[in-house]
Amino acid sequence: MNCPDCGDKRPRVIDTETSADGTTVRRRRECQACSFRFTTYERPEWDSLQVKKRDGIIEPFDRTKLRAGIDRAVEKRDVTEATVTRLVDDIESALQDRETRLVSSSLIGELVSNRLRDVDKVAYIRFVSVYKAFSEPEEFLRELDAVLDAEVDDFEAPNDSQ
Ligand SMILES: [Zn+2]
Repeated sequence: MNCPDCGDKRPRVIDTETSADGTTVRRRRECQACSFRFTTYERPEWDSLQVKKRDGIIEPFDRTKLRAGIDRAVEKRDVTEATVTRLVDDIESALQDRETRLVSSSLIGELVSNRLRDVDKVAYIRFVSVYKAFSEPEEFLRELDAVLDAEVDDFEAPNDSQ
């Protein structure tokens, strides 16, 4: 961290303050050579994505956990390891591409279910039934109906290419 004014290499920190949500550290610095004062903002563990869970607890993003959730959903389904890996990669990079290092677990749930829906309908239903934690059986059935309707639409579009 060089002084933006004179380029001196050892500005000293005169004040440190952590933002209320704990994601940013603000440091007031003063150059020892020219006395220029400036402020820097740092995010601890810049590269590590943090996940805010439904209960408000923040924990580091865990790829293994994400994969385990998807693995459970696709269990005994015709979904290859490679497909799961691609899904996880895809979701992880979508998360990493976001401006913020703090994402909600419900956003991750959305990303996973959107993709699973195209991969395997049963896996999708299994996944949303866990992550959405439907409070009413009706909600679950509505979701199921929506998926089954889409399935029927697929069958109603016959392939005339022969
Ligand atoms: Zn300076």
